[in-house]
Amino acid sequence: MSQHLLTVDSLARENVDHLLRVAARMEPIANRRQVTRVLEGAVLGNLFFEASTRTRVSFNAAFCRLGGSVCDTTGFTFSSMAKGESLYDTSRVMSGYCDAIVMRHPDQGSVAEFAAATNVPVINGGDGPGEHPSQALLDLYTIDKEFQRLNKSLSGAHILLTGDLKYGRTVHSLIKLLSLYGPLRITLVSPPGLEMPSALIDLVASRGHRIEQRSSLACDFSDLDVVYATRIQKERFTDEMNESFQGLSGDFMINRDFLGQRCSPSTIVMHPLPRDSRPGANDLDVNLNGDPRLAIFRQTDNGIPMRMAIFATLLKVDALIDEDQRPVRWFVPSQTGTLDR
Ligand code: ASP
Repeated sequence: MSQHLLTVDSLARENVDHLLRVAARMEPIANRRQVTRVLEGAVLGNLFFEASTRTRVSFNAAFCRLGGSVCDTTGFTFSSMAKGESLYDTSRVMSGYCDAIVMRHPDQGSVAEFAAATNVPVINGGDGPGEHPSQALLDLYTIDKEFQRLNKSLSGAHILLTGDLKYGRTVHSLIKLLSLYGPLRITLVSPPGLEMPSALIDLVASRGHRIEQRSSLACDFSDLDVVYATRIQKERFTDEMNESFQGLSGDFMINRDFLGQRCSPSTIVMHPLPRDSRPGANDLDVNLNGDPRLAIFRQTDNGIPMRMAIFATLLKVDALIDEDQRPVRWFVPSQTGTLDR
């Protein structure tokens, strides 16, 4: 695996398989049954220049669960970038303080520019509408776990990617990662103007997958294995786009009716979150809460073992995990994480 994780393009199928295996070995630690100190003494720099809850906190928690410590900075206001500092200078400075860096930034390509100035491993935590490789890895890990539970295989699976496929960076990384597996059937449904970039569609088709684009959710999806919904990325819209998307009125909503009428009892529903729960949003409806097919909180839980696997692999302690473990000593509730697993 290369030194940084900036795009899933740098991952061969064997690298992804390795990360899936290491993530599975991290489960007892992620679930607070075991502790490890393999990253004792290491410091993570968590640099988030765009809004984040899950990615920032789960990278932080994953590094701590490996025995390391974390320094955080959020937003431009409280960083020297507000004083005009370049990505190059920030990168050189941070490399003197940290042993790994996670960065999120609103500009596509900015995390790669930052990484070019350092030898410290850098993970892209989201670069504008570009990529979000760790999210795609945890999504694939989730699909793999859910399929094992349901006795399904990725080979021949039918996956629906819906929502904002133009600006949604998670689906850009995920579709490339999925294309290493399969053969798959991938259906893309997005509001007009928010379609998946054609270069990604061509790439997936060139790898032998069946890929179709549709403009509406009103189809029979009864053979669907995964619905992967995404939020409309309004923060990337121009004023004119905001106006033209005002009249969508829930046409692209994934809800109880859609699942009941068009999908099967074994279709799982995923979303990178956050979902927009405001009235009129075209997103994932809260009326699916409690439905066992809704995998979104199992998916967020899976962020911890996968991000632990990424750190352990980049910092080359992945082979030490099995020997460097002991049981936890504090009280752990019998069920950690979400209650509607
Ligand atoms: N949390 C994801 C991201 O940062 C998805 C989203 O914001 O809609 O890309």
